[in-house]
Amino acid sequence: AKGAAMVTAVAYRLADQTRQIAQTLAEFRLSKAQLLEVKKRMRTEIENGLGKKTHDSATVKMLPTYVRSTPDGTENGDFLALDLGGTNFRVLLVKIRSGKRRTVEMHNKIYAIPTEVMQGTGEELFDHIVHCISDFLDYMGMKSARLPLGFTFSFPCYQKSLDAGILVNWTKGFKCTDCEGEDVVELLREGIKRKEEFDLDVVAVVNDTVGTMMTCAYEEPTCEVGLIAGTGSNACYMEEMRNIETVEGNEGRMCVNMEWGAFGDNGCLDDIRTQYDCAVDENSLNEGKQRYEKMCSGMYLGEIVRNILIDLTKRGFLFRGKISETLKTRGIFETKFLSQIESDRLALLQVRAILQQLGLDSTCDDSIIVKEVCSTVSRRAAQICGAGMAGVVDKIRENRGLDHLDVTVGVDGTLYKLHPHFSRIFHQTVKELAPKCNVNFLLSEDGSGKGAALITAVGCRQRVQEAQ
Ligand code: BGC
Ligand code: MG
Repeated sequence: AKGAAMVTAVAYRLADQTRQIAQTLAEFRLSKAQLLEVKKRMRTEIENGLGKKTHDSATVKMLPTYVRSTPDGTENGDFLALDLGGTNFRVLLVKIRSGKRRTVEMHNKIYAIPTEVMQGTGEELFDHIVHCISDFLDYMGMKSARLPLGFTFSFPCYQKSLDAGILVNWTKGFKCTDCEGEDVVELLREGIKRKEEFDLDVVAVVNDTVGTMMTCAYEEPTCEVGLIAGTGSNACYMEEMRNIETVEGNEGRMCVNMEWGAFGDNGCLDDIRTQYDCAVDENSLNEGKQRYEKMCSGMYLGEIVRNILIDLTKRGFLFRGKISETLKTRGIFETKFLSQIESDRLALLQVRAILQQLGLDSTCDDSIIVKEVCSTVSRRAAQICGAGMAGVVDKIRENRGLDHLDVTVGVDGTLYKLHPHFSRIFHQTVKELAPKCNVNFLLSEDGSGKGAALITAVGCRQRVQEAQ
């Protein structure tokens, strides 16, 4: 009888544990009504960012990009492109040929940016960038050509023209001194001057979302939206000039870099943020900023997971109640690990092997729980990202007075590309929350490089026209 009582006690404890874990994860499960609310709030913030009187206090900045049209196929020439702010820093040579057989040929090299440089002085950062360009030009044997350059700089910038961008604030893993409030094109030009080895013609500063949209629009003219679901999260789209009250003129359209990562910075998402989201924010380089991004981008999903795992361990539900040094390490769960853990083709034994690789000793039960935590966190990410996108496409539809809109979204980013479920859940959510829009998604092939070159080409053409 004593044995039976013990079995009952164990069974009871397990049931209680399962219930408590489920309760913790339930906070991450959003209803359709909640997601519709996220969509609606995004819409409100969009209007605030665009409005003349509301812009200054708005959190979603809706920054003008001075990109007024998508490519028309006449773009031509050799261009240099820089891609800073994604998973890798790269320098590229892009050769665009117009005519009957349009072609784009690209050569690129990836360079590391050490953490000390990402969080050092601005001068060190730009010296490093210029050093990498120098190495690349040597490698390509092109040091003497004064090439036009497009600078994909994936951070919020105030633009007054195509070739000037004042950094609003750093995001993601960057935090260099003396850059916020400065024109990053000038900082780059100064770095090139300091080096005294080569000259370049910086024509455009480009957000990665805009590069992505332009790259996809080159192949598919209905592409008028760009999305990055990667290290960071952001979107851009073609907005009516008459609605962009922060720029003179009412004719035509301009691409707006939404900087939607900052959605929620005024507290408007507080009802869906969990204690784990708050913990991730508090431990970040930019506390209080980019709250939406911190709920739905690759750089932070692993951190949310890690914070939940720490809590579940403290409560004795995981890892035999012992918090290892590994679990205390920031950034251990990169997108590629989450993607592996959530892969359906993986047996639990393999999940345990991945955790082992990370230095986490797990039982079979542990691995089941870890996998569930990961999928709950990434599902919410895909859903709220989808809710934001539903707000955007519906805005475009209303702009054009249409009952039904067909539109293509160009997409890039490691989370979207590598994760086994993110894109599917994201698509589903957009479809559900914006039923009057038929949204087609197009993967961008190297948007940051190709897109920057296309925009640079358009910029060069505009210059020639203005000079005439
Ligand atoms: C930046 C955006 C960028 C996005 C994706 C965010 O942190 O603020 O400018 O587009 O990351 O890279
Ligand atoms: Mg990128």
